[in-house]
Amino acid sequence: MKKFLHIISVCLLAHTAVYAYASKPLVVTTASMFADMTRQIAGELVKVRSIVPIGGDPHIYEPVPDDVALARQAQLILRNELTFEGWLNELIENSGTKAQIVTITQGITPIQSAQYHNATDPHAWMSAANGLIYIRNIYQSLLALLPQHRDTLEARYQRYASQIQELDQWIFQQIDSIPPQWRILITSHDAFQYYGRRYGLQLESVLGTSTDADVRTADIMRLYQVLDKHQVPAIFIESTINPKLLQQVAKDKHVRIGGKLYADSLGPKDSPAGTYIGMLQHNTRTIVRALTGQHEAQLPIQPTPAWLWMALGVVQIGSLLWISWHVWE
Ligand SMILES: [Zn+2]
Repeated sequence: MKKFLHIISVCLLAHTAVYAYASKPLVVTTASMFADMTRQIAGELVKVRSIVPIGGDPHIYEPVPDDVALARQAQLILRNELTFEGWLNELIENSGTKAQIVTITQGITPIQSAQYHNATDPHAWMSAANGLIYIRNIYQSLLALLPQHRDTLEARYQRYASQIQELDQWIFQQIDSIPPQWRILITSHDAFQYYGRRYGLQLESVLGTSTDADVRTADIMRLYQVLDKHQVPAIFIESTINPKLLQQVAKDKHVRIGGKLYADSLGPKDSPAGTYIGMLQHNTRTIVRALTGQHEAQLPIQPTPAWLWMALGVVQIGSLLWISWHVWE
């Protein structure tokens, strides 16, 4: 009887947990960095899903039927806009969702695209100062969704905002250690304009603001001129973009690939770039290490060759034998 009661209570607990999870509001974001921002503020109060998965490219994403269902079930949809998610409006329309739709770049001064008339650069989150505006917009939309949890949301939001303020200052200090003539960031696509303007790096990229733009010979020639003129020690690949072109540039100009940067997606869960803060820290560390020439300083120490160990061993055994021979004599 006791065992039976125990089973019943475990079942009831499991049922309550499943019910509590299912009844939580669903917040849907377009990209993984916005999903992380939302989780940092809302904690366990909501379910959060990103439409574009980790490693996916939001510029050229094609929604699948599951995304339509996700949008339909959502209570809140958070979008970047600034020509980032060209596929979203159609998805929202097809889903017939009743969700509140919030643009989380409200209040940000957009950078105009140098390449396309009337187009803006969407990568505003790459500056931590803009990150503060993103999280304020997300916090306010969560507050409207869950007014009964004002205290919890406010406390979590304030703590997160101070972490991002610290991050902003830390990035300034880090970039400051790069020799001024090497403060040039060369990447696959123009995802770092906001970062560069905020922290003082000149930007050059092979592709334009979007990743589906055709590569122009003129862009490559300009890049080669920059490399010749400044003798920049490294160029960088991006996690969501095929590195082939950049690898070719590196080979042609004998310049080092400084590492992989994250812009349009977080890194895998639990990796250093697995959160928004982690992504900006990882990028900054990678850039600083490569552009200050710390790569050379960090080359692994050559291991001692095996023959040297063997020779040392022979000498040691020999001297032991010699000592014991003389002691016995
Ligand atoms: Zn991008």
